[in-house]
Amino acid sequence: MTNFSARPRTNRAPIPFDNTYASLPEPFYSRVEPIPVSAPALIKVNADLARSLQIDVDYLTSPAGLEVLAGNRIPDASEPVAMAYAGHQFGNFVPQLGDGRAILLGEVQNQDGERFDIHLKGSGRTPYSRNGDGRAWLGPVLREYVVSEAMAALGVPTTRALAAVTTGESVVREEILPGAILTRIAKGHVRVGTFEYFASRGDYESVHTLADYAIERFYPDCRASDHPYLTLFEQVLQRQARLVAQWMGVGFIHGVMNTDNMSISGETIDYGPCAFMDTYHPLTVFSYIDQMGRYAYANQPHIAKWNLSRLASTLVPLLHEHQDKAIGIAQTALDTFEEKHEAEWTRVFNAKLGLEQIKPGDATLAQALLTQMAKSGADFTLVFRGLASGMEDGANPDFAEIRSMFKDGQALDAWLVKWRARLNEEGCPPGDVHETMCTANPAFIPRNHRIEQMIELARNGDFSLFEDLLTVLSHPFEDQPAFHAYQAPPQPDEVVHTTFCGT
Ligand code: AMP
Ligand code: MG
Repeated sequence: MTNFSARPRTNRAPIPFDNTYASLPEPFYSRVEPIPVSAPALIKVNADLARSLQIDVDYLTSPAGLEVLAGNRIPDASEPVAMAYAGHQFGNFVPQLGDGRAILLGEVQNQDGERFDIHLKGSGRTPYSRNGDGRAWLGPVLREYVVSEAMAALGVPTTRALAAVTTGESVVREEILPGAILTRIAKGHVRVGTFEYFASRGDYESVHTLADYAIERFYPDCRASDHPYLTLFEQVLQRQARLVAQWMGVGFIHGVMNTDNMSISGETIDYGPCAFMDTYHPLTVFSYIDQMGRYAYANQPHIAKWNLSRLASTLVPLLHEHQDKAIGIAQTALDTFEEKHEAEWTRVFNAKLGLEQIKPGDATLAQALLTQMAKSGADFTLVFRGLASGMEDGANPDFAEIRSMFKDGQALDAWLVKWRARLNEEGCPPGDVHETMCTANPAFIPRNHRIEQMIELARNGDFSLFEDLLTVLSHPFEDQPAFHAYQAPPQPDEVVHTTFCGT
């Protein structure tokens, strides 16, 4: 482990750190610094994001900034730590995980006083590395950069990418690969697995401290509740119910929804073998390690609830002094998940269908379309965008754009009649429906085959597709004719069937 004060520190504070996690007691983390790399080079700094966090962009893009992003220099007021956590991985409990290849440098605040972690991923071994090398290779770093930025532009809560650098060092996986480090920001890195870490050790004093920290940082209105820890759990549940609905609305499959990858703040976190669906099928799975389909597209709400049940069990001693009463309280809260998720799901899909109100039967209407899409292997993104575009044609749209995507034209027509009747109940002019639908149905998503092509090019030093994807995906709801090709699903020989964790 490197010496805490071994490296130069900057004299001013171009990154205005203001840390809270590092003032928690030591069992929450290990104080450890990133391991320096030999020849770092900048790939990208997310200048707009940096500015919004009151970070000096000139500094970040300077040689000194590069040293920070590579882990070679500890900036002023940074208090680097590797966070401790546990987690259920594919249903099996692992009592000790933690940041095995990541370092929390500290926290900054944006102009509205919202607090964000700055975190290096791929920054070398820590006490939690187990057998890992603590490093990341270029592919997953670029994937997380592009996909997390796309998710943010799609309006889905997510960690974000502040910067990416190459290390000049090789990483050994199945082959020798170029090393890279992602700097990401998050509302916080407290996970369901952080609660499990302490609960599994019977350290309920730390569970208490952690719950107080989570309330203070992510859910301050819980302080006013008569039952703050129950309210905390209910609010986490509400955010997860919404988050998974939002994922489903853009065809996103997280791929590795282990409890250590579920953030208490309600953000999408830890982009590994994640993928956006091209052709719609509810049982779609991409991840190589998910052989049983545990984290399949349509299973995500079920798994979110399962993960929340793990969280609930860690909070039991905080909910009531009598264990049986506490378990009853937790169970009652947990049992609201389906209803809350269904409400969020209906809200998301109603918006996609141009419906402002929510009425009985709406979920069934959306499901009926999805059923036809699954039977036809229709492209998820193109169908919804095509419905939106169709409404531009005024009173009698023929939806020519999507017809060829459906096998059963009669069934599609029957569905269109029902949908248009439901739209008519709201009385919005088709032009308005067109406009609102275009803000709920992206033209562009980070399609897997493009991500793979981007990584392949970047391995050969060509970052042009990485840049193109960032540009087009920063405005995913706008028709961008110059980037028309990025709307298209893969050709048969471009289809990505399997994604890898690729750590
Ligand atoms: P993930 O699959 O990225 O959520 O990681 C699961 C656990 O494995 C976390 O504790 C990571 O820090 C750890 N891990 C993943 N990759 C590496 C690596 N290359 N070196 C050390 N630890 C790792
Ligand atoms: Mg993880």
